[in-house]
Amino acid sequence: MKIADNIFMFDGIGNSSNIYLIDNQLLIDTGLGVSFEKIIGNIKGAGLQPENIKIILNTHCHYDHIGGNHLFKKLTNAEIYASEFDAENIETGKNTFCEFFGNNFVSSQFNRKLKDGEIIKTENYSFKIICTPGHTKGSICLYESEKKILISGDTLFSDSVGRTDLSGGNEIELINSLKKLQKLDIELLLPGHGNIKKDGINELIKNMINFLE
Ligand SMILES: [Zn+2]
Repeated sequence: MKIADNIFMFDGIGNSSNIYLIDNQLLIDTGLGVSFEKIIGNIKGAGLQPENIKIILNTHCHYDHIGGNHLFKKLTNAEIYASEFDAENIETGKNTFCEFFGNNFVSSQFNRKLKDGEIIKTENYSFKIICTPGHTKGSICLYESEKKILISGDTLFSDSVGRTDLSGGNEIELINSLKKLQKLDIELLLPGHGNIKKDGINELIKNMINFLE
């Protein structure tokens, strides 16, 4: 499904995360990997070339976001990026909850540990990495200041926030992360699960902070 110019969403089938493809270059999260063939079919169906993906960026280490890494890596040889704080988990499978999702972990070569404030550029977009710990230690959001787009992983959904009761989770950190997001001007929210959101995003963040505090 086309979300914006050169941004497509291939939505989470079952427990899989949403998968976003930007400029046919940057893939945000890879889902569980169980419906990989179907997702590849959908990418091709949208007129895109999956083999041209250059970067696989994981918003955090949970298996429902990284399970397809090895499959996309094999097809594309793209580089895998994620926060420096979730990198080890993504490489080793530790704290990814792959058993909970009923899958065997397959390791992929990890390429780049991201730090707060780094910029990831594609043909038409420039995303800033914002470290937003809380759901996991290494949860990150990506913000496009010119286009006012936030890709939020499991930090923020269209009507709720990510859980903080799993390993690496911390509610106080999540509140502080939401306060960071509150300062941004956001017109389009692309979360890790569920629907995208177009209006009232700053109001949503405010309500979530009030709810948690
Ligand atoms: Zn998660």
